[in-house]
Amino acid sequence: MDSLNRLHDLFKQFPGIGPRQAKRFVYFLLNSPECLRSALAREILELGSHVTICSACYRYFDKKRMDTDRCLICRDDSRDPLSLMVVAKDVDLDAIEKSHVYNGYYFVLGDALSLIEKEPELKIRTTELLETIERRASVGMKEIILALSLNSEGEHTREYVEGLISPLAKQHDIKISMLGRGLSTGTELEYSDAETIKNALLSRKQEIIP
Ligand SMILES: [Zn+2]
Repeated sequence: MDSLNRLHDLFKQFPGIGPRQAKRFVYFLLNSPECLRSALAREILELGSHVTICSACYRYFDKKRMDTDRCLICRDDSRDPLSLMVVAKDVDLDAIEKSHVYNGYYFVLGDALSLIEKEPELKIRTTELLETIERRASVGMKEIILALSLNSEGEHTREYVEGLISPLAKQHDIKISMLGRGLSTGTELEYSDAETIKNALLSRKQEIIP
């Protein structure tokens, strides 16, 4: 296989990228200056060496040669220790941070669950979530906000996670809430604007723990 096809095959593996778009990327790069291709190659290589997963919230972060295993958010003591927001993916966390309406800590599940998911515990961080709740409960956490998209995967994930954490939340007297009005049905969190996220957060509803 020649290098045009090899690169094309690599781009095809990106989420949401089909064969035609992959081809457009290859031709875009061919028509780009050498410095752009070098920068892209360098940044991709650095992703592996500088970026790591935070040991507290499980988001990806750039260590920038710092000797730490926790991200900037988790190391920020001025944040509100009373609340923990559970999101499916890093992009959701980024969208909420950009809205500047939340000042607590986060937990990244790693993915959302499809309706046919047979082994949820292999797809999302269930053990780590329970451990995090135990740890945060010991320093006074009072609320867990399930910030999941209002599509079928988000709903399914919310139901599963709620069932998973409810006994522990009840034991520590922690309330579980979910994003309320403002997010319209079918909305993916990562594509929501700051105002929508703000409304959804301010109107969050508490779940009734059985
Ligand atoms: Zn973190």
